[in-house]
Amino acid sequence: MADFRHIEEQLRELKEAGRYRPMTVWKDGSDAWMTVEGGKRALQMSSNNYLGFTHHPKLKAAAIAATEKYGVGSGSVRTITGTLSIHDELEWKLAAFKGTEAALVFQSGFTTNQGVLGTILGPDDVVISDELNHASIIDGIRLTKASRRIFAHKDMNQLEAVLKECGSYRQRVVVTDGVFSMDGDIAPLPAIVELAEKYDALVYVDDAHASGVLGKHGKGSTDHFGLHGRVHFQIGTLSKAVGAVGGYVATARAAKELMINSARSFLFSTSLPPSVAASCIAALEVLQEEPELTERLWRNADGFRRRLQALGFDTGESETPIIPIIVGQPERALAFSKRLLEEGVCAQGIVYPTVAMDKGRVRLIVTAQHSEADLRFAADVLENVGKEFGLV
Ligand SMILES: *Cc1c(COP(=O)(O)O)cnc(C)c1O
Repeated sequence: MADFRHIEEQLRELKEAGRYRPMTVWKDGSDAWMTVEGGKRALQMSSNNYLGFTHHPKLKAAAIAATEKYGVGSGSVRTITGTLSIHDELEWKLAAFKGTEAALVFQSGFTTNQGVLGTILGPDDVVISDELNHASIIDGIRLTKASRRIFAHKDMNQLEAVLKECGSYRQRVVVTDGVFSMDGDIAPLPAIVELAEKYDALVYVDDAHASGVLGKHGKGSTDHFGLHGRVHFQIGTLSKAVGAVGGYVATARAAKELMINSARSFLFSTSLPPSVAASCIAALEVLQEEPELTERLWRNADGFRRRLQALGFDTGESETPIIPIIVGQPERALAFSKRLLEEGVCAQGIVYPTVAMDKGRVRLIVTAQHSEADLRFAADVLENVGKEFGLV
């Protein structure tokens, strides 16, 4: 009888390489302070809950009301009986929010990239992708038969050189994260758009970490740079700052219609629960009504980054609420993260192969929920543990 020995073997190899990661189980919902199951309370600096929307009263009330009205699930994929009026409403509101003709919602940011890239890229096309783009973009590209070219991170000279060579393809599609999730730096979108226009390429930006964070009312990187109408595909997530789960593409009506007919992750997977769609509609309202949340997020992030830099930490290229502290080799970065948690600060360790071997780090995400006292506590813990590790 077949057994699990090859699976167990792979698991052993992972552990021997020091890359095995157990999951931490938290007792309570996503918040500024959280309690580890059977353990201690820790200041949460690893969640994507940028604005505290997971617990926003307006979003919770909307979820409960929609559950009472529509039930807990949609009962079908979107194209059969799973498009309820609340899904339709969410898409029109997203399109209005982003200032595009249309928007299409998927079950997650991950499946949005799979569905959109899988639809727009054919064998006669070329996709040109930043080397640090998110895993869901890489996997989305792998699902297609398009030619692939990678450019060095934010290297516009290389991007131009590649675009020059790719004139004979049917379509050129330049793909970038809006905010890069491991370094917290922002894509040079104005330069990308200019090059794309010069060489007749489509522009595709994944704003997972920019949704609700960058731009007026958190409208994203296109709005941040004033590039409305010049970015063809804006991917957003409903799972991070928006506080629930889901993803979307804001684009032209024709692109939406093609995806409704061809995007496999859209066609063959059940639509979002009504409660989630309702929470996301409420989130869009709160983003417009409470701009002070986004303002506090940026005040917290900029102040905390300056504080870490003054202490002498290497925060890499960070210019957003994502702030890495570069530690070095994988074991050292993971040990630093473990010591921080013992001292009451949850800062995720990120190591090879997610980042380069010598660029192991802990990644801190500052949110609007952190109080001044929280951030002072975090800076004190980081300073003390940083001294133990000779980082400051
Ligand atoms: C988190 C993330 C995703 C995935 O979004 P989910 O909604 O969590 O599936 C996609 N792209 C980027 C750049 C991300 O950071």
